[in-house]
Amino acid sequence: MVEPVYKRVVLKLSGEALSGGKGFGIDMETINRISTEIKELRNLGVEVAIVVGGGNFWRGRSASNMDRATSDYMGMLGTVINALALQDALENIGVITRVQTAIEMRQIAEPYIRRRAIRHLEKGRVVIFAAGSGNPYFSTDTTAALRAAEIEADVILLAKKGVDGVYDSDPYVNASAKKFDELRYIDILNMGLGIMDSTATSLCMDNDIPIIVFGIDKPNNIVDVVLGKKIGTHVKEG
Ligand code: UDP
Repeated sequence: MVEPVYKRVVLKLSGEALSGGKGFGIDMETINRISTEIKELRNLGVEVAIVVGGGNFWRGRSASNMDRATSDYMGMLGTVINALALQDALENIGVITRVQTAIEMRQIAEPYIRRRAIRHLEKGRVVIFAAGSGNPYFSTDTTAALRAAEIEADVILLAKKGVDGVYDSDPYVNASAKKFDELRYIDILNMGLGIMDSTATSLCMDNDIPIIVFGIDKPNNIVDVVLGKKIGTHVKEG
């Protein structure tokens, strides 16, 4: 039997990844398919923490006439909608989950408590981190880096929609764009590659957290990445 390469992972799911082909809202078929793959990770004995994005509902920076912090709080609330949908889909197929929010909303989820999150993972529960980091001016990619450092995850699995790794230029614009199999954090910063924001990239760099950027559209990719198949782009110190 093929053994997983990682024991504890942070899976970053962007809001877009949950929206299917529509780019807005939640596509149940997509969320169910992703949930099945997450269940497989659990069956392999991998501890799974998930950071969900919210771009399928709202992105703070896209409202130009609004107070930025207010707009960012709206974005964080969007991630909670996604987290609850994912929780529901996972529990429907028998995966035990806990949602923890960085902004307290005790009626619907636990508040984020680091030691409690780790305990859930040790007990085999999937922990879904919602409401980002709780701070405006940050992203859920940065949240993934922060939570990965806090819970001592082995890797961040950065699941992307519409792209299967990191390219030197936009593959949709430039037909000869080259995909990297491996990259250093500093290359992302120096080349200004838009795959991850610089705050998230430097947090990973400073704390030596490996990132694997891969496509979510291809079925079974999440499992294949964890089984060590050479998929996507591996980002680490060179
Ligand atoms: N957000 C924030 N602080 C955080 C995480 C998220 O203010 O720690 C807000 C921000 O406005 C962001 C929105 O929530 O645009 C949705 O998150 P993100 O854009 O990272 O979602 P994704 O692109 O992954 O779907």
